Amino acid sequence: MATLGIPQNTIAILQKYSFVFQKKYGQNFLVDTHVLEKIMDAAEITKEDCVVEIGPGIGTMTQYLAERAREVVAVEIDKKLIPILEETLAAYDNVTVLNEDVLKLDLNRIVEESNQGKEVKVVANLPYYITTPIIMSLFEKHVPLKSVTVMVQKEVAERMQAGPESDNYGALSLAVQYYAKPEVVANVPPNCFIPRPKVGSAVIRLTRYETYPVAVKDENLLFALIRAAFNQRRKTLANSISNAPNLSFSREEVTQALVQMELSSTVRGEALTLEQFAALSNRLCI
Ligand code: SAM
Repeated sequence: MATLGIPQNTIAILQKYSFVFQKKYGQNFLVDTHVLEKIMDAAEITKEDCVVEIGPGIGTMTQYLAERAREVVAVEIDKKLIPILEETLAAYDNVTVLNEDVLKLDLNRIVEESNQGKEVKVVANLPYYITTPIIMSLFEKHVPLKSVTVMVQKEVAERMQAGPESDNYGALSLAVQYYAKPEVVANVPPNCFIPRPKVGSAVIRLTRYETYPVAVKDENLLFALIRAAFNQRRKTLANSISNAPNLSFSREEVTQALVQMELSSTVRGEALTLEQFAALSNRLCI
């Protein structure tokens, strides 16, 4: 079948099935073969790999993945796309399409079934309305991953890479940087999609660390502190943590830990590095 990465081929298949775009599913289909090649290069897919694709759409990137990987599992929520995928992926016997909501799916079970629990690569042009929950759930649920190479909103890619004191720095930056090394591999303008999104996009590769860059006694506490710090971003860290309903530290306890770390008692969370959040969490962990 002719590549769907060319606009007229995508338009032809959409017309054949009278497909109507669902805005609520963040449907912006990629129509640029150079960008598709760039994603494949960044993801370094080989015949050894089992790849999980989130949101295959009409199967444009799935075809590229199927050519390069040993196996592809593609998870698509929109049932109207399933007959289209049956046609566009008919030539490949190494692709399984699951008509599911990725946020409700037990991806650990999928990896167990399709790759005996060994590490997979996630590759996707993500639906932008749920980028953060998808990325967070992959990491927090400890899905066995080698890397995650995904198209996201440009601003979200910037947040993932941001460091202390930057306006883009937040809970997502710290969570991503705890689990993985982020690298933006391409900026992608709106005209590479049908329909065109209102925002710029970027391809980011997150390479999972084999050993985390910081050692923490309690990962849940680390992330609870980070969330508390950025839920009340303009407040001092001691106030945000002591006000957090799910945490039971007093302002004095937090202040004491900060002072022991040679930080100001009035410091804000946005000034702390990942290492400092880890040190704080270890001090507060009883
Ligand atoms: N991969 C295709 C491409 O690059 O042309 C489509 C990408 S489009 C940005 C996002 C895709 O994710 C759509 O096909 C959409 O239906 C699907 N999607 C949206 N929400 C989803 C969810 N919760 N679970 C699985 N797929 C979802």
